[in-house]
Amino acid sequence: MNAYLDNAATTRVWPEAAQAALRAMTEDYFNPSSRYPSGTLAAKALEENRRKVAQALGCQAKELVFTSCGTESDNWAILSAVQKNARRGTHIITTAVEHHAVLEPIRTLERSGYTVTRLPVDRQGQINLDDLQNALREDTVLVSMMLVNNELGTVLPVREAAQIVKRSGTPALFHCDAVQGFLKLPFTPRELGVDLLSISGHKVHAPKGIGALYIRSGLKLPPLLTGGGQEGGLRSGTEPTAQIAAFAAACEAGLARRDEDIAHMRTLRDYTLARLAEEVPQVSPIVPGDAPHILALTMTGYKSEVLVRVLGDRGVCVSAGSACHRGKPSHVYAALGLSRPERDGAFRVSFSGDSTRAEVDALIEGLKYAAATLFPSMS
Ligand code: PLP
Repeated sequence: MNAYLDNAATTRVWPEAAQAALRAMTEDYFNPSSRYPSGTLAAKALEENRRKVAQALGCQAKELVFTSCGTESDNWAILSAVQKNARRGTHIITTAVEHHAVLEPIRTLERSGYTVTRLPVDRQGQINLDDLQNALREDTVLVSMMLVNNELGTVLPVREAAQIVKRSGTPALFHCDAVQGFLKLPFTPRELGVDLLSISGHKVHAPKGIGALYIRSGLKLPPLLTGGGQEGGLRSGTEPTAQIAAFAAACEAGLARRDEDIAHMRTLRDYTLARLAEEVPQVSPIVPGDAPHILALTMTGYKSEVLVRVLGDRGVCVSAGSACHRGKPSHVYAALGLSRPERDGAFRVSFSGDSTRAEVDALIEGLKYAAATLFPSMS
């Protein structure tokens, strides 16, 4: 491979994370619930790892529950928030550009009788806070808004939105899907003022199969899984200690290099945009996008699936829109009001702290080749 530029889809597991997982599996493999000394040590290691993830997120360890992925965190937050507020109302507010992990559980609730307001976005991918203010009702029980959009790299005004919701006097709980924001922007859940916040390991150089849900201290939620009472009784099931150890190691390393990584990704992003403007005028940014790691681009009139294949054949990995919903037209591009040719040609380039200029150079060469060999009408 010449260039892996699909880090919003998933990231390479860092060696320190892989080593931590290996150790947890082959040496410290004991069940944290076991009462003999090795089990107690495993329980201690689990709590130490929770502390490391909490430190990277800027919250207390007791506010974090481990889950299997960002999707699980999103589903649980949404379904449990409305369950908790069951007597208080049936109105939910979200945005038109959320990830499917948020859209789908909300759609399920809608089918069962909830009313849903989906805040629209403008051509820049931004919501209007007045729309939120106007949408709030006495019976609004949940507001779910993402921090960084996975397809556009736009940063939504979660802090301001959470303030509006708190001031409104509605019983609404505020959930934030921060899967794409974690370790890419400096923030803490408390600063944002949210009640619930989802993160995922595989976006930050931990393996797939681990995520976490932040639950604001003092907020009691119904459990996701009942059984042996692990995770404070909220998510029973023997803890996946290897994934958790890897997640903690990736978070520790990620926090130590976060600011440097953010600056590096911004530099690469600017470099990519400058070279595109100079050398591949057929490609343009869809939105300015404020996140350091995501660049939403379009080669208007071309088909992005063809483009992604041509680049892939040259060892350059990018994504045609969101990798999570291959083949289906993106609701995010539709919400922006992109024209059909802009939408068809849309693709996403995404960086990590490990991305290099050489990878961007390979991308630019690939795009130049695509522009020279593909024609809008035949692609
Ligand atoms: N939310 C956002 C914004 C995402 O980008 C993703 C994954 O792409 C998810 C949720 C789902 O996370 P996971 O893959 O860990 O289930």
